[in-house]
Amino acid sequence: MRANRRADTKPELALRHALHRLGYRYRKDYRLDLDGGRRVRPDIAFTARKVAVFVDGCFWHACPEHGSKPRANEWYWGPKLIRNVERDRVNDAALILAGWTVVRLWEHVPIDEAVGTVITALTATGAPGNPAGPADAAEPPNRIPPATDDSLG
Ligand SMILES: [Zn+2]
Repeated sequence: MRANRRADTKPELALRHALHRLGYRYRKDYRLDLDGGRRVRPDIAFTARKVAVFVDGCFWHACPEHGSKPRANEWYWGPKLIRNVERDRVNDAALILAGWTVVRLWEHVPIDEAVGTVITALTATGAPGNPAGPADAAEPPNRIPPATDDSLG
């Protein structure tokens, strides 16, 4: 099964590309080792500002609009999806404890709205511990970026 496969889903890719085009720099699938041995891989991580972005699939993460009740094999999917959602919440709490800002976006959110939400979160994180300014946030877009991991496309 591919239940927990980390994948470059399309909405996630679109968001990365949009942020990249705007000059934002981030890590993708960056593994964070949190207290208690909990490992979390945000889809997009701004490590200097400690903003973790997740693009949640409507099905896997039980979106209230589209994720409702798999018709077949409810006995199988029901508990599985509940576990996914529970794990999301535990991960969120662990991230917040570690000083991260968590941004969760449903995959159905329009790209402009998703980008806006991320930028708002980045802007809101001010500068404690990062007074020199953004290391992984807005850089002038016309500066040649080093080769990044955002090489798809
Ligand atoms: Zn949805």
